[in-house]
Amino acid sequence: MSSHHLSTKLSNMSQSATIKMAQKARDLKSKGIDVISLSLGEPDFDTPDFIKDAASEALAAGKTKYTPVSGVMELREAICNKFQRDNGLTYSTSEIVVSNGAKQCIANVCLSLLNPHDEVIIFTPYWVSYFEIVKFCGGTPVPLYAGIDMDFKVTPQMLEEAMNDKTKLIIFSSPSNPTGSTYTKAEIEALAKVIAPRNDLFVLSDEIYEYIIFNGKNPSIAAEPGMKDKTITVNGMSKGFAMTGWRLGYMGAPEWIAAACAKVQGQFTSGATAFGQAAAAIALQEDPEKLSFMKDKYLERKNLVKGLLDDIPGIKTNDPQGAFYFFPDISAFFGKSNGTRRIEDADEFVDVLLDEAHVAAVTGAAFGDPNSFRISYATSNEQLTEAMQRIKKALSAYS
Ligand code: PMP
Ligand code: GLU
Repeated sequence: MSSHHLSTKLSNMSQSATIKMAQKARDLKSKGIDVISLSLGEPDFDTPDFIKDAASEALAAGKTKYTPVSGVMELREAICNKFQRDNGLTYSTSEIVVSNGAKQCIANVCLSLLNPHDEVIIFTPYWVSYFEIVKFCGGTPVPLYAGIDMDFKVTPQMLEEAMNDKTKLIIFSSPSNPTGSTYTKAEIEALAKVIAPRNDLFVLSDEIYEYIIFNGKNPSIAAEPGMKDKTITVNGMSKGFAMTGWRLGYMGAPEWIAAACAKVQGQFTSGATAFGQAAAAIALQEDPEKLSFMKDKYLERKNLVKGLLDDIPGIKTNDPQGAFYFFPDISAFFGKSNGTRRIEDADEFVDVLLDEAHVAAVTGAAFGDPNSFRISYATSNEQLTEAMQRIKKALSAYS
């Protein structure tokens, strides 16, 4: 028995590069190597106590059973209120689906909407899983690339030119993983003006980093004129509430899309964890300001890392205004050697960082940009400073 028995669909799927690199770092650590892992995008904060307490209370109250596939009513109501409060969006509970992470929301949407050969425009650099999920669901990913000189942001004109009769879906995240770039309200408005007049075209707006933004409030494209009927707004508890391990995400979508996603989910996994949902309802009712200490910390770290990265010759950064990533251009290192090893591309670059600096990062190629690499700065100032020093030292040997 061997892997040739696997389905073609599965064989054509790449492993998640973020998860692969995080595992590589864990393996090295377990061998006693002092690896600093900047690979996985995960808050280093623990879930706030008031949320953990709510889950304990829910467990004690016997919330241990199967839940409605779309989510328990108290959570869906809390999500509707949150959409109204933070995003100016009016949803009814029948337009909300709670899933096992935002990742499942994205899979549900693609499984529900895509037919073979439907094209999906993915703003690039993109989060690794968009591309693979679209492919797995039979769609054709169409990367729409905007480079570092454009702060990695797609313009309305670029979008207009990329759209054709086969385009069914557009996927983007703002604040963005991996670039940390954020679309302003004016930029979202301009993109919406291009999309709104098109029929049979949908947008998946991934707003999971909504609360980790340094230049104001995250604008939701669904709130723009003509957009609500064609937008699926995906969000979740993982990032803003430091709840990655709870596996709770949600979407607001037109009712027929929400119903389709619930149908898929009803066959694949059913409703998310009962006591987790009870706690998420409490979390979402809280004033987001209560959690802004995390954002403040990320901003401090962002400024620290920007200074340290900009001090390394050959590394080019943008100034990310959200999420907790840097996505520097490192193409200046391609072709450079330390006498025994040559850096040919971004894959080799991150291998050099891991082997010679013991810092784990992720190749830009996995995010659709072979000139870059990604680091997550969701870790302590000490670890970040040490990691940047190690990177600087290792790279100084290459000329
Ligand atoms: N979208 C983006 C842009 C992400 O970075 C992540 C983090 N893995 C997800 C979705 C998935 O989040 P979740 O943990 O809720 O599945
Ligand atoms: N969103 C995180 C990342 O990009 C978590 C890992 C994943 O789910 O891919 O690193």
